[in-house]
Amino acid sequence: MNRERTHILFFPFMAHGHMIPTLDMAKLFASRGAKSTLLTTPINAKILEKPIEAFKVQNPDLEIGIKIFDFPCVELGLPEGCENVDFINSYKESDSGDLFFKFLFSIKYMKQQLESFIETTKPSALVADMFFPWATESAEKFGVPRLVFHGTSFFALCCSYNMRIHKPHKKVATSSTPFVIPGLPGDIVITTDQANVVVDEETPFGNFWKEVRESEISSYGVLVNSFYELESTYVDFYRSFVAKRTWHIGPLSLSNRELAEKAGRGKKANIDEQECLKWLDSKTQGSVVYLSFGSRASFTNEQLLEIAFGLEGSGQNFIWVVSKNENQGESEEWLPKGFEERTKGKGMIIRGWAPQVLILDHKAIGGFVTHCGWNSTMEGIAAGLPMVTWPMGAEQFYNEKQLTKVLRIGVNVGATELVKKGKLISREEVEKAVKEVLVGEEAEERRIRAKKLGEMAKAAVEEGGSSYSDVTKFMEELNGRK
Ligand code: UDP
Repeated sequence: MNRERTHILFFPFMAHGHMIPTLDMAKLFASRGAKSTLLTTPINAKILEKPIEAFKVQNPDLEIGIKIFDFPCVELGLPEGCENVDFINSYKESDSGDLFFKFLFSIKYMKQQLESFIETTKPSALVADMFFPWATESAEKFGVPRLVFHGTSFFALCCSYNMRIHKPHKKVATSSTPFVIPGLPGDIVITTDQANVVVDEETPFGNFWKEVRESEISSYGVLVNSFYELESTYVDFYRSFVAKRTWHIGPLSLSNRELAEKAGRGKKANIDEQECLKWLDSKTQGSVVYLSFGSRASFTNEQLLEIAFGLEGSGQNFIWVVSKNENQGESEEWLPKGFEERTKGKGMIIRGWAPQVLILDHKAIGGFVTHCGWNSTMEGIAAGLPMVTWPMGAEQFYNEKQLTKVLRIGVNVGATELVKKGKLISREEVEKAVKEVLVGEEAEERRIRAKKLGEMAKAAVEEGGSSYSDVTKFMEELNGRK
């Protein structure tokens, strides 16, 4: 057998919500003896460089690096420097939708570069984001197995599968009529709006999703940021009916063990981590609610005002991450007059980016108000926290159902449809949900369940745990192919 180090290429979709878990995955496999190489564009490489360097300093024997691919935005019809989906938020609302599709279809430009890199390096495997359906064929050309990374849960993948197979949304009167997802264990009730299905297959986007599905079927398998004990029913379902070859390798955020690693994920934080920890140290256990809505979400001023009043009304301690839309500029019309003076000592606003995992892990945090992006959801679960669910789009309503109905560690704030439809969540709803997650008998029961899941999550990634073992199995399989 060839004893060369297993070499895995990781090709993340260029958005923070995809790059963060992919970097975690690359670190995880490096720490299990593989050589990891991340493939990305120049600007995204800059984002990844610092945390990779920090990891290398801590782990000089481990191999992890970056290969930079050319991505000439202007030539591709994109604004200069638009190498990451998150930058699209800074364009006018009316333009950003079109730009997203343009971006999505432009990525194929890197196919040629990917293929020549695979041809020259002959890696053991390519782990490519689901947004690169063409990568399966590229890897296959050189006999390299392509693994798909969706960045979501087994539960959400099973929901999408059953929606696609049974098409229940075609049998209901309106897009807001609730129905049970057929074929899926657990009687999950949802609406067409929430399920966010791409109905029309004949549109370019519809065709794109078709390609994504086909490329998954012909791929070598699927890696999932989850652990068996969290959703065993859905892992088994997925393995039986959808993709037979899957490995659960999460929670990926637990690959970050050192304080600096936890604090250095994604963008540069807009707060000094020591200052943040000191503030949290001054609070009693489980008394602070943390609010963050991921790397892309930005609310209207009107919605931000309601959150502010709701938080103040709740009387609870809070850390609130506000990532404003560039169009909102520097003006702070979203903040009620005197808010920060009145909540001084009780609350903290982080404008921009927070060291999320570091905060969630602090014992003072007692609840997490989240948009239910899967990374945040898993990070909340890994930290053993009950959550207030505020899904907005993508597959977030599936994640919300999992938290509220299946795991019973979530309370919905009142979000019943995609955020783009414009429904305002009132200050009363915010106040009620925040209180509900932190205080009272039901909160205590939720907290106990969440804590148990947090312990299971940590055990899953330790030696002998379910995710640890799946990583071992996967590595052995790759070694066996040499
Ligand atoms: N995140 C962070 N600080 C922030 C906002 C987000 O560290 O202020 C991280 C968060 O920990 C998670 C990722 O960004 O790992 C967001 O991914 P998620 O799937 O939750 O949401 P998305 O941004 O993809 O909608």
